[in-house]
Amino acid sequence: MGKSKYMKAITVEPKKPGTAKWMDVPEPDMHEGSILVEAVAVGVCGTDVDIVEGKYGWSPHGQQHLVLGHESLGRVIDPGPTGGFKKGDLVVGIVRRPDPVPCPNCAVGEWDMCSNGLYTERGIKEINGYMSERWRIEPEYAVKVDPSLGILGVLLEPATVVAKAIEQVVFISRRSFWEAKTILITGAGPIGLLATLFAKLYGLDVHVLDRMESGAKPDLVRAFGATYHSGSALNIGFKPDTIIECTGVGQVISDCIQQMGANGILCLAGIGHGGTTRSLVTADVAANAVLNNNVIFGSVNANKRHWYKASQALARVDRTSLQKLISRIEKPENFMNALNRKPDDIKVVIQFSEI
Ligand SMILES: [Zn+2]
Repeated sequence: MGKSKYMKAITVEPKKPGTAKWMDVPEPDMHEGSILVEAVAVGVCGTDVDIVEGKYGWSPHGQQHLVLGHESLGRVIDPGPTGGFKKGDLVVGIVRRPDPVPCPNCAVGEWDMCSNGLYTERGIKEINGYMSERWRIEPEYAVKVDPSLGILGVLLEPATVVAKAIEQVVFISRRSFWEAKTILITGAGPIGLLATLFAKLYGLDVHVLDRMESGAKPDLVRAFGATYHSGSALNIGFKPDTIIECTGVGQVISDCIQQMGANGILCLAGIGHGGTTRSLVTADVAANAVLNNNVIFGSVNANKRHWYKASQALARVDRTSLQKLISRIEKPENFMNALNRKPDDIKVVIQFSEI
């Protein structure tokens, strides 16, 4: 592939709204990794929308454009000289790279816990993403996907967020004698529904709360063997051992804190902003947490351990359930359709090539 070759990519000029386009960019450079991959599909999430709306994102140093996309799935075209990959393997690229200092966490490979914020991320922060016809990846940042998953492998990146959240809950639970029986998941989006499927693998009594009263989400939750609730977490009728909060909505978080059972663990995995709540006073929150030995913690991103765990878990979930999480598939040239949310959307995917 000569240097004059170009390919198509979905790019944006970060912090400038309305600059996203499907345009020619140079073929991926060798310095981006020894494995050459043909893009199959890329999932779209709220972060991509924020970047396209100019609210977030950084282009690589000295460059005007950032190639968008961090929820990848591709097929190896050229495995390069090392790494145990072969032509035709389905792979997903890890998103975050350790900061260059590195901080103690990045130094031991826990870049998801980076303590100085100087990490970089493909498709988000200073490294080109995966929404291009071809991309390169370093062998140590490529994760093989069970070939029987097919296009469902595009769900691996959101699944890593869930794998980390569940792992952290399990780590925290070791502080006391703890038998998890019930879990409440708030928000029936891709993260919440993947958490539902993974919690079912653990044999838990799974409850999902979302504001939708009818439609695809309640039907899906019930089809997955979980109990669906709309309205307030205060009215679910039991005190959950574990809550995974995926909405980022102040009132929902406040209700979760009040509804948590004794020794309960609340994982905050949703990112919201602003909003007001029905006067849950800080000291009352603290008193409740003290008297119930509660833990409230935040969780973001994932390291290689979580990518491995997520790929194992995803391969164990039945394909019919996973298929229902992909609600819409768009062509790359129609990427703006993919970014415009519709009410029954769960995961929208941009498909670059046949699988
Ligand atoms: Zn770091």
